[in-house]
Amino acid sequence: LAVPDWPEFCKQLKEIFEEARANTDGHPADYIPQLATADQNLYGLSLCTVDGQQFSCGDHSYEFTIQSCSKVFTYCVACDELGPEKVHDHIGFEPSGVSFNAFTLDDNNKPHNPMINAGAITTCSLIKPEMKSSNRFTFMSNRLAEFAGGRKVGFDNATFLSEKDTADRNFALAHYMTEHNVFPKGTNIQDTLDFYFQLCSCLVDTDRLSVMSATLANGGICPLNNKKVVSSATVKCALQLMLGCGMYDFSGEWACTVGLPAKSGVSGAVTVVVPSVMGVTVFSPRLGKRGNSERGVDFFTRASGKFGWNIFDQL
Ligand code: GLU
Repeated sequence: LAVPDWPEFCKQLKEIFEEARANTDGHPADYIPQLATADQNLYGLSLCTVDGQQFSCGDHSYEFTIQSCSKVFTYCVACDELGPEKVHDHIGFEPSGVSFNAFTLDDNNKPHNPMINAGAITTCSLIKPEMKSSNRFTFMSNRLAEFAGGRKVGFDNATFLSEKDTADRNFALAHYMTEHNVFPKGTNIQDTLDFYFQLCSCLVDTDRLSVMSATLANGGICPLNNKKVVSSATVKCALQLMLGCGMYDFSGEWACTVGLPAKSGVSGAVTVVVPSVMGVTVFSPRLGKRGNSERGVDFFTRASGKFGWNIFDQL
């Protein structure tokens, strides 16, 4: 069993969840109007082990937009389609050390990594570029559902439109990258950005997102139905990048304290992989100054310490 004493584990999780609830620091993201209207008090937790045990509490079935947590799964699908080498012809491996939407490329004029906007927009350009945009979206939402054990992801059109409306920075980034030949020849920037905004606007709850991360924890096989979603080599690349770059410009401190592959999104989700053990997701919209959910970081700092989840704890 991934977790031997399940009832005791759940009891302790619930305690930590309540301790982190007391943290009311931070504010919901406001740079996209649809995100600013989030109910600040929402708070949910779900986890799924590699042997399929599930636990959840709080607002675990409240639907929120997946935002940057999609970047991990888009990257996995791109690697599965093209192989990691081809993907990394276009995108680097290094933490950028600056914010998620920073206007910066690395020394080779490539996006620093696939977990920030520039890298994720590039990843989107690599997935099924020959398809019509409708089929391309269907392809990716089916792939996201496979990570979630077959449960479909939703779509929030208002957020999608709101993203598009307030996307000067992402448009500028895409043009800047075109100038530097980051995208494959013939890439249509508008279609690529739309695809990126659509993937950020997919709806999940902590239940689904924790299963998606549990699929990564289980080497690419979904623990709920034992279906292979992506190869273990792809998952390995994704987890390494999540450890180094998944928590915006807090990634270095996170790797040294919590010590787990993770990805954060501006809607307030933090999804974490405990390799070979479980996927865990916390959702709470109040963000700290680095753009990560305050309660999310609080919860995982406590839980990782308590349960010895840090990948270096075995030393
Ligand atoms: N919608 C976001 C954007 O502006 C995604 C950002 C995030 O979650 O970090 O690109």
